[in-house]
Amino acid sequence: MSKKSQGETTDRCAFCGRSRSEVPLLLTGLGVSICSDCVNAAKKIVDENNAPTSQKEEFGLSKNTLPTPKELKTFLDDYVIGQDEAKKYLSVAVYNHYKRLLQEKDDVEIEKSNILLVGSTGTGKTLLARTIARKLNVPFTIVDATVLTEAGYVGEDIESILTRLLQVADYDVEAAERGIVFIDEIDKIARKGDNPSITRDVSGEGVQQGLLKLLEGSIINVPPQGGRKHPEQRMIAVNTQNILFICGGAFDGIERRIASRLNTHVVGYGTYESKGGIDMNHLLQYITPQDLRSFGLIPEIIGRLPIITYLNPLDRDALRRILTEPKNSIINQYIKLFKMDGIKLTFEDSVLDYIVDKAIEFKLGARGLRSIVETIVMDDMFNSPSTKPTTINITKEKAEKMILRANPARFANN
Ligand code: ADP
Repeated sequence: MSKKSQGETTDRCAFCGRSRSEVPLLLTGLGVSICSDCVNAAKKIVDENNAPTSQKEEFGLSKNTLPTPKELKTFLDDYVIGQDEAKKYLSVAVYNHYKRLLQEKDDVEIEKSNILLVGSTGTGKTLLARTIARKLNVPFTIVDATVLTEAGYVGEDIESILTRLLQVADYDVEAAERGIVFIDEIDKIARKGDNPSITRDVSGEGVQQGLLKLLEGSIINVPPQGGRKHPEQRMIAVNTQNILFICGGAFDGIERRIASRLNTHVVGYGTYESKGGIDMNHLLQYITPQDLRSFGLIPEIIGRLPIITYLNPLDRDALRRILTEPKNSIINQYIKLFKMDGIKLTFEDSVLDYIVDKAIEFKLGARGLRSIVETIVMDDMFNSPSTKPTTINITKEKAEKMILRANPARFANN
């Protein structure tokens, strides 16, 4: 290329052909130029191809992209320690949910199978739901059942659940109607009376009746911006028939009911053969709809949660693994924080055991691991960005010193 012709080439946008004077800005590379308008247009195309920006695409489903239950479980394994049974049930339920959405119309209609996860707080129920949502191509939202009240009471209407789903789906009603909702603390809306732990004065039963409408599939008028319904507000009709509901709850004290049922139950076909075979330390695995009923869930709600699975309490070994094994484990997160300042952070093995001991001592479970680690590295996080050491090794002595100095209220179980 002659010098002259190269000059001509670089004075025009190679994409739209306009000259330098006709465009806002012309960027010149090796023998070729592009204008800022074309850069912007190109960026849009790249974004559309890379990130799932279009909602239709983002929430699209196809047989080819359907992850198998095994793939779903493997994905969960990267982030959630243990809880194999719950992972398996969840993976199958989600897989079937997808299949159900893809089914062709014929005589056999696959029914929706909402799920109930039972397990003490901090055992990973929300984490499981959140993690599986990352793998999914459907809108997903988490709501807390404790904020729900019957219409007319202070609190959120049941419909607010769907408002959030609509918001996540960017008001694509069709996408929201295929979404997944995680309802946490469903045990807290159990009927009063039968359940001494409930202190709220708004009857849980009314909320359960409201929730039932959602679970069983009906057309609900949803206020698009949330908040209270008022007559002049425009509503969006959402059909909940294809929305998958995953409910979670600790059901504190339900073990006692399970134990008493197991001990008094007539032994018959398919029931527990002998008391000797029962693992009294893990009673949740024997949970039945009957136990949920005696806890205070109305039978209609239980009927709409056909899949019940449980999470194990986290023992010392599980807590230790949670600290380091998941892809975004707490320890890895702190290592990364320091690495961003060019510092190699290491923990002695004995420190990791010490952190677990303290989490157990303070009765904080997995939730406490983070605040304990945070306390231990607090001074280093404060000082190191100025002193810029290349390595920091956390020893047991240092860990003990930091915990001893900390305000004990920091570790109060809340
Ligand atoms: P739940 O919903 O059962 O009350 P969460 O899922 O909110 O409990 O767990 C609280 C925190 O504890 C999570 O953010 C996570 O850091 C940690 N955690 C709990 N269980 C596990 C687990 N099985 N594997 C990994 N981390 C866990």
